Amino acid sequence: MAALNDLGLDGSVSQVKTPDQISKLDGLIIPGGESTMMGQLSLVNGALKKVKEKIESGMPVFGICAGMILLSKNSKDRVVGKTEQPLLDLLDVEIERNSFGRQKDSFEAQISLEPIGISSFQGIFIRAPSVLNTGSGVETISKFNEKTVAVKQGNMIAAAFHPELTSDTSLHKYFVKMIQESKLK
Ligand code: GLN
Repeated sequence: MAALNDLGLDGSVSQVKTPDQISKLDGLIIPGGESTMMGQLSLVNGALKKVKEKIESGMPVFGICAGMILLSKNSKDRVVGKTEQPLLDLLDVEIERNSFGRQKDSFEAQISLEPIGISSFQGIFIRAPSVLNTGSGVETISKFNEKTVAVKQGNMIAAAFHPELTSDTSLHKYFVKMIQESKLK
């Protein structure tokens, strides 16, 4: 909402859970949390399928942390290896879950997202994943310690860190602009 206000735009932000609510959206942020649980729950109530349909038909999506994992084609855990978790199978990347360690290894670091015009950003990493491999249509937009931590592919953008925990709205504003552009198409 702060990003919409900063841009002087009308619009509303709401929490959605059901396929019906999702079908009405112009854009979706898939938040952080626990990707295995989020995947299972959204599989059961049909939300996963609806989200996939909407993204495939062009709706912009922003995956944050566990949301980035859910968007991916492939994920494995740094400690336990391959995980059998439901994924949207859209973002052409392989993810390493818990790539920086456990909860106690959570950290903050100054990063940059130069390719999308954000030169400095406070990255808050909480049991964060990283991107191990990217397919040909995927642009790396941020790296930290040699690890890829933000990517973009068409109408999908994903970050391993939590921009909603800072007061910096620049990344959310970038996403709002992706939604505006998609509505002009
Ligand atoms: N480690 C979590 C997972 O694998 C993600 C953590 C987060 O979203 N902050 O789903």
